[in-house]
Amino acid sequence: MQFWLGWLVVGCILPAALVAGALIFESYERERASMERDMVSTARALMQAVDADLEGIQQILQALAVSRTLQSGDLKAFYAEAQALLPTQVGSNIVMHDLTGQQILNTIKPFGSPLPRETDLRMVNRAIETGKPVVSDLFKGPATGRMVLGMSAPVFVDGKIKYLVGMGMFSHRLGEVLQRQKIAAGWIVSILDRSGTIGARTEDEDSYIGKKAPADLLQRATAADEGAYETVNEAGVSTFEAFSRSPRSGWMIAFSVPASVVTAGLQRALMINVALALVVLLLGVLLAKSIAGRMTRSLNALVAPALALGSNEKLDVPPVEIEEVNELGRALAKAAELIEARAKERDEAAQSERRMMVEKQASDDANRAKSEFLALMSHELRTPLNAILGFAQILDGENFGAVTAKQKEFIDEILASGGHLLELINDILDLSKIEAGKLSVSMERVDLVPLMKSVVATLEQSARKVDISVVPHDFGLAMPALMTDRVRLAQVLINLGSNAVKYNRPKGIVSFSYEEIGDKVRIAVRDTGIGIPVARQAELFQPFSRLGAEARAIEGTGVGLALSRRLIELMGGGIGFSSILAEGSCFWVDIPVYGKASVDETEGNAADLRPAAELSGFSVLYVEDNPANLALVRNIFAPLRDVTMIEATDGTTGIALAARHRPDVIILDINLPDISGYEVLRQIKRLPYLIGTPVLALSAGVLPYEIQRGVDAGFYSYLTKPLNVKHFLRVVQAALSSRGIAVTAAQ
Ligand code: ADP
Repeated sequence: MQFWLGWLVVGCILPAALVAGALIFESYERERASMERDMVSTARALMQAVDADLEGIQQILQALAVSRTLQSGDLKAFYAEAQALLPTQVGSNIVMHDLTGQQILNTIKPFGSPLPRETDLRMVNRAIETGKPVVSDLFKGPATGRMVLGMSAPVFVDGKIKYLVGMGMFSHRLGEVLQRQKIAAGWIVSILDRSGTIGARTEDEDSYIGKKAPADLLQRATAADEGAYETVNEAGVSTFEAFSRSPRSGWMIAFSVPASVVTAGLQRALMINVALALVVLLLGVLLAKSIAGRMTRSLNALVAPALALGSNEKLDVPPVEIEEVNELGRALAKAAELIEARAKERDEAAQSERRMMVEKQASDDANRAKSEFLALMSHELRTPLNAILGFAQILDGENFGAVTAKQKEFIDEILASGGHLLELINDILDLSKIEAGKLSVSMERVDLVPLMKSVVATLEQSARKVDISVVPHDFGLAMPALMTDRVRLAQVLINLGSNAVKYNRPKGIVSFSYEEIGDKVRIAVRDTGIGIPVARQAELFQPFSRLGAEARAIEGTGVGLALSRRLIELMGGGIGFSSILAEGSCFWVDIPVYGKASVDETEGNAADLRPAAELSGFSVLYVEDNPANLALVRNIFAPLRDVTMIEATDGTTGIALAARHRPDVIILDINLPDISGYEVLRQIKRLPYLIGTPVLALSAGVLPYEIQRGVDAGFYSYLTKPLNVKHFLRVVQAALSSRGIAVTAAQ
């Protein structure tokens, strides 16, 4: 945090300092430009001052040139006149030449003394040529040996130039002109003649006078009359230079200013800027450090509470200096509360889930125990029932001689009671399967009329016996097809119908009706029976609840309605009733519609009614430990011609007999005393000469997984006990046909 705040400070201050530096530099540039302009204009002004001085001298010379003493040729008088004039002038002497350059008089020498002749005749000649006053360049005075500046004016006598009157001026006198001007400190000003020779200088005059100005100045001065530039002088000092040339005399003023004079301000300003920036930077960093310290302290105070979040410890959030962090602290405290509440909720939910799981486990266990018990019970009951019903069927078939009417009555009784028992076992098994969610229905398009015909036909048999008439609904009525499980719907309708028969009065009526209600068809069964007391109606669909019917000695189990309701609901329908005591009841089911039914359907379930084939001429091995069942099958085959039945009461013997006799068909019980029927099957299948021999299972195990296992193991067919004799014979017939053994269908 300290690091980033430090960077923030630097990021803010540094650009500001840079901008200030740039502004300072720009103002320096402006200052420099204006100083250059000042230098040039000062040079120009100084030049004018020098020009004015020189012009004054020229005017004097012109005045002398027209002096009357000169015109009259009185040179001595002229000498005196000139001598008298000198002290008032800046000039050092007055000289007069003839046109050959011979000095005629010179005020620094007495009148009449011999005088030299001018060696440099350029100025003399220029004055003669122009006829106007002229200024010379600097030269060493022949009389004094000092650097002198000369000015000459032509003297006209009788309209012709006769003499030249001139004035010499020691160059240092020019310096006096400069001294009169106010020159800024540090500036060095020089006066240069046309050739660039230094005539005067404000500093160290003696060592410069008579010398040439620096070459780069002279070079620039030839290109322009005035200008300014920056350079490094011979002493190695960086300087600003400026110059201005007089258009009249061609003389020049040159300025030189050490750069330090100009840049000192700039440097000072820059230094101040840098110093200020450093101070502000330092202060900013210190401030950032202190703020970061506060923030870190405040945030650190929240670390412990944040780490304690989720633990069960009490969250202690201390107050800190920064309000936002305080807010964060409050949020942490709130979050801790929420987490605690959630954890509590979660614990409770987990506890209740555990409780529910334990309860569910207990109920699952109870259900499994119930299902196992029911399966076991069903299994155990089927074995004796197999013998009872099987033998009754054999007797009923009169295969062993005709039975008397009384015997027939008893046989019917045995078959009916056995049938009831089987029904009860099946119902209980169905109910337990539904409750365990293991019963599935196979939904298909079912036409109502054929279904009703077979239901009515089944009911009529039992109704007739108790003198009850069954009135079917109009079979010619067009009704929509249903979407349902054919077998299960028939089971429900038969159950309702047989209740209507059972709980009727003598000579009572059972009637059916159908009507379409929305997307369902309501099938109602009405009776003219005893009705159901309102007080007991609530118990009606409870399993094993018989509402006192047991006391009336009416057969029943109390499972039918409970099973019916569950089946109907499983098929997506509804079931209900209305009842008036001592008048009768009406039970109805609502079944979802599939489409419009056609009325001309085939009669009932033809396959069930087809008679068994006439079988003869085959051998069969039956492996079964229960003597009653052995006797039953033996007696089923007894009436058939040329049938050899080989019997074994355990698996090992069965395998040995199979190997020895190679029967045409083998029937195995599954629960054998030594090895299971599956093991017997496996070993038989390994015998090469028994390949292709059909092996049937005949078992009391009727649970779907038992049947499935039987089919998977490779049995030709899996038959359940109790046996339906006709069906059994049909399966044996099919098995023999599969081996190519001819069977003749019974007529
Ligand atoms: P069950 O008929 O085997 O006893 P159900 O589950 O079919 O079992 O019926 C339960 C009870 O409901 C019957 O014992 C009987 O008391 C009553 N009941 C069922 N149908 C009728 C009916 N149509 N008329 C009068 N009572 C009936």
